[in-house]
Amino acid sequence: MTKRKILLQFDSDPHASVFDAVVAVDAGVDQLLQYSEVEPTEVRELVHGAMFTRGPQDLLNTAIFIGGSNVSAGEELLKQVKACFFGPLRVSVLLDANGANTTAAAAVLAAAKHVELRGATAAVLAGTGPVGQQAARLLARQGAKVHVASRSLDKAKHVCGVIQQLVAGAELTPVETRTSEGATAAIKGAQIVIAAGAAGVELLSSDARAGSRALRVAIDLNAVPPAGIAGIDVMDKAKERDGLICYGAIGVGGTKMKIHRAAIQRLFTANNLVLDAEEVFAIGQELPS
Ligand code: NAP
Repeated sequence: MTKRKILLQFDSDPHASVFDAVVAVDAGVDQLLQYSEVEPTEVRELVHGAMFTRGPQDLLNTAIFIGGSNVSAGEELLKQVKACFFGPLRVSVLLDANGANTTAAAAVLAAAKHVELRGATAAVLAGTGPVGQQAARLLARQGAKVHVASRSLDKAKHVCGVIQQLVAGAELTPVETRTSEGATAAIKGAQIVIAAGAAGVELLSSDARAGSRALRVAIDLNAVPPAGIAGIDVMDKAKERDGLICYGAIGVGGTKMKIHRAAIQRLFTANNLVLDAEEVFAIGQELPS
């Protein structure tokens, strides 16, 4: 008899994300077990409950999703989850804290539809936030040169250092964007700009955008007015504006949802998958466009 698909949802927030729960159900999960305010020290007992209840041949029907708004907390939970496994006794796990992996994958895939990433130059504005960091990491992994922009040069340098540890040979340049000249410097020579700023913050003005001759694709992930990139509509999806291909947050969000659902479904195809940024991106690449 085929076992029911059980997903354990580990969340570091006081309430496990409703958004992630709905996506899990829509992806075909039969039984969702939700745990909130999960601490690293509590992971072992929870994971053992998942590992030791079904025989190894049935463990592909049990999986773990790690969410929560705090990406560092999610990464720590993932580390603890992986440490519990041994031999064939393991279940597949997906990390998508703050939706950062699925959102960044959708943004980078949108860019890749129009520009060959290898050798391209990309600017990630607010590249220090959870989504921006993952976008910069994926772009670097694909062989793009990445300008990581932040209001703080120290924060941008820190993020470049973190990505450098993960992606050997990554070409990263930290850029300070405290002033409007900073944003201009960040996009200088870039074919791609991804704005990953906080909700309701404009990071790139029309003038700064118009001043860049190299830009081909502009992707704004902020759905709350004003737009992160002036002139982009939240619904834009490969919409050409003044010779620039534009994506808004909802234009990217549809792909993000597809990737999220596909990643959940992928968990139940084997019991040994660890789906982090790169694996989530690869799942997105396989989706029909
Ligand atoms: P976040 O953590 O809220 O903010 C990202 C960065 O924005 C911060 O690290 C900060 O960078 C910069 N920032 C914050 N306040 C600012 C201000 N007042 N002025 C200028 N810069 C400011 O964002 P996130 O969680 O990574 O998400 C990024 C964006 O993606 C958000 O707009 C979010 O709503 C959106 N999102 C979209 C989807 C989708 O499906 N479309 C899914 C998830 C998230 P510095 O301090 O380094 O300058």
